[in-house]
Amino acid sequence: MARKILVVEDEALIADAVAARLRSEGYEVQLAADGPAGVEHARRWEPDLVILDLMLPGLDGLEVCRLIQRERHLPVLMLTARDDETDLVIGLAVGADDYLTKPFSMRELVARVQALFRRIEAVAGVAASRALTLDDGIEIDIDARRVRQRGEIVHLTPTEFDLLVRLAEKPGRILTREKLLVDVWGYRDGSGARTVDSHVRALRRKLGDGVVRTVHGVGYGLGEADDADSAPTPSPSQ
Ligand code: CA
Repeated sequence: MARKILVVEDEALIADAVAARLRSEGYEVQLAADGPAGVEHARRWEPDLVILDLMLPGLDGLEVCRLIQRERHLPVLMLTARDDETDLVIGLAVGADDYLTKPFSMRELVARVQALFRRIEAVAGVAASRALTLDDGIEIDIDARRVRQRGEIVHLTPTEFDLLVRLAEKPGRILTREKLLVDVWGYRDGSGARTVDSHVRALRRKLGDGVVRTVHGVGYGLGEADDADSAPTPSPSQ
């Protein structure tokens, strides 16, 4: 069955071009032209992914994102008009999974959509135990996409969650920014190291400074330093 993508965009030219291209790639697409219609469509149609413009009539993209993710995690690719809007959205830790700044090419859009679907599958396929336990009393429930620290739920954005899972899968292993960009964001071109850094900062803010280790000039890791070639040994929870 074709994957369903909801496009919430008030500029008809962009919406139609995006829809046409995604349909030609085999996706099923529906359009919504304002915020309230986007929320309503997401509820009724249950898409697999939402492409969401930030500046919308009715409700803006931030509010739409919050509303559609209230009940379950729904992957969101946010469209922003300028780079500083992207920074703002990342700063607000809105639950978008990825961002694309206008103007973008249809090729770039398709690449991001495919990357998001790959990433969702990769995270879903992690850890047979479906749960990971880390130092500092951190427990990750993969299926529920929930993180607790000493019993308390910690609210992570979808990207922060996926980044934490990717690091937690291989405790002691250092992952380079480039590797994380491919694994977590699905980027293949190696750009976006800044994106990794800002999400690591967010994880430290929420879970404590000691949670993610920086190895200068190399990348990030969790837990004690380890031989880079040793097998990953995630510890399953009881
Ligand atoms: Ca708009």
